[in-house]
Amino acid sequence: MIKCESCGYEGVKSEFRYLYNTTLDAETAYRECPKCYGWVVVNELEEEKAEKSLQKEKG
Ligand SMILES: [Zn+2]
Repeated sequence: MIKCESCGYEGVKSEFRYLYNTTLDAETAYRECPKCYGWVVVNELEEEKAEKSLQKEKG
C-alpha cells in the first residue's frame, strides 16, 4: 500500500497517477495522490510485488 504523507490517503499503486522516475535507473518514482494531488515517492518494484500478492489472495 502507498500512503500519502500530506493527507494520509492510502491506496494501491494504480490509484496514484504516475508522474516520472526519480532518477533514470532507480526503482522509485513520483506519483500523484488522487486525493490531495500531492507528490508521493513510490518504490515501484516493492509495490508491484505487493499488488501481485494482493491479487493472489483474492484468487
Ligand atoms: Zn494526499
